[in-house]
Amino acid sequence: MTGSIAQRIATVREQLPVGVRLIAVTKQVPVDAMREAYLAGVRDFGESRLQEAEAKIAQLQDLPDLNWHLIGHLQSNKAKKALEQFQWIHSCDNLKLAQRLNRLAAELSLKPNVCLQVKVVPDPDKYGWSIPELLADLPELDQCTALQIRGLMTILPLGLSSEESLQVFERTRELLLKIGQQNKSNIQMQELSMGMSDDYLLAVQAGATQVRLGRIIFGERTA
Ligand SMILES: *Cc1c(COP(=O)(O)O)cnc(C)c1O
Repeated sequence: MTGSIAQRIATVREQLPVGVRLIAVTKQVPVDAMREAYLAGVRDFGESRLQEAEAKIAQLQDLPDLNWHLIGHLQSNKAKKALEQFQWIHSCDNLKLAQRLNRLAAELSLKPNVCLQVKVVPDPDKYGWSIPELLADLPELDQCTALQIRGLMTILPLGLSSEESLQVFERTRELLLKIGQQNKSNIQMQELSMGMSDDYLLAVQAGATQVRLGRIIFGERTA
């Protein structure tokens, strides 16, 4: 890993088509490094854990126009806190959680941006809907009118070749298009949150609209 955080961000940006959102994933990254990223133009931070995020959000309150993205699994008892802290929830991974977020968002008069986390290939290590499960739950998801359901999020299973990775991303995009063609009044299907440091170029090739990058910007995580 060479160069400053700002240089690495610039290098990544050159590779991203216009309109693709760069989410800097800052789990285990200290706030000083996040300030550097901010100065280099980053306005979107992704965090996996609520507690860590809460502390950083408090410490970075002086930075205007930040968007906070929750990208890690959310326990339902923490749904309210998540809604209060994050503008985007990428890791909405089951119907019960979506319905709970919906109820709480209505109570709090919030309109959170939500991605539905999917697994287009079976992966016991990850959360998320399988394709048939998601298709079955769509009518009920469509009734979650306090949520802005914006699209899909996926994380690749470990150990795929580039070719297989590209296929998984393409199948995720096909699922997005398929759902988008169904007549749903609330669910919008425009966003594809996919691609991490090792695979984001493939994700972009397959139509990602948001990439979530940690190590390639901030270096290896130690823990
Ligand atoms: C950690 C994480 C990332 C970033 O991964 P890198 O390999 O550091 O780019 C992206 N998405 C999710 C869901 C993550 O947990």
